[in-house]
Amino acid sequence: MSLVIIGSVAFDTIETPYGRREKIVGGSATYAALAASFFTRPRLVSAVGRDFPRKILNLLRSRGIDLGGLKIKAGKTFHWQGVYDIDPNKRTTLKTEMNVLQDFKPILPESYRRAEIVFLSNLDPENHDFILSQMTGVRLVAMDTIRFWIETKPEAILKAIQKVDILFANDEECRLLADEINLIKAGRKLQSSGPKIIIVKKGEHGAMVFGKNFVFGVVAHPCEKVVDPTGAGDSFAGAFLGYLDSSTKFNQKEIRKAAVYGNLVASLVIEDFGITRLLEVTELDIIKRYSEFKKIVSF
Ligand code: AMP
Repeated sequence: MSLVIIGSVAFDTIETPYGRREKIVGGSATYAALAASFFTRPRLVSAVGRDFPRKILNLLRSRGIDLGGLKIKAGKTFHWQGVYDIDPNKRTTLKTEMNVLQDFKPILPESYRRAEIVFLSNLDPENHDFILSQMTGVRLVAMDTIRFWIETKPEAILKAIQKVDILFANDEECRLLADEINLIKAGRKLQSSGPKIIIVKKGEHGAMVFGKNFVFGVVAHPCEKVVDPTGAGDSFAGAFLGYLDSSTKFNQKEIRKAAVYGNLVASLVIEDFGITRLLEVTELDIIKRYSEFKKIVSF
């Protein structure tokens, strides 16, 4: 099995009630690949500018992430700027500078094309067909998106959703996409448009998995200090898919377990700014949090 992750590798400027960080490393593919790397050896596809630190690329490689699909292009790395409210589920995007991702056409290296799982994380939905046309043995297509794409390319997003098996969306995105206020109805409506599984991430409140014949709710691991919520969604998806890749089974039991791992890795990420926690924690920390969580939810 293998997992290909396509999305942004970025610089983020973030302001939360805990402080401000200027141009720290972020990006949907960065978070997702680091989170997946606890379970598998993900393959990343993206582009950065020459301003992106080599040190970080080496760090990603040292975590077992294949960077064969990462292009280093003349120009500046993608930059996103956002500010969070006291309620960490509320954020405002102040800037999205596409830079080298502007006209990026993701070409998959030969060794990536037989991968069985692909994660189309936060990227221009108009690229989805082009990516999928390069893949020869894909069994599971997963996608995530962000308000920016829902607002700028709504038709392309709705078309893309019809072709995926798993859709990750936060509650706001889910309501926007389905044009429905009630989250349960929104999840069901989106499911009827194509995806077999919809995963609605509810930030501080955990996540809901809408399967074909089941609904699974996973409460968030209690976190006293949400320092920076950036990347929680991408990390959830990365850990979820990384776990499925390592388990090789896509049945209900494994999907429930994958959602718990996604939830736990996301709860670690938000404890500090950017990718700091993803670089600090070990597999042992995840196992520890998993058994703590089991105690919390048992009754
Ligand atoms: P999340 O908090 O999981 O929704 O993801 C936040 C990450 O997505 C940040 O690290 C950003 O760099 C990245 N991001 C924000 N906007 C976009 C966009 N329009 N396209 C690609 N990546 C983005």
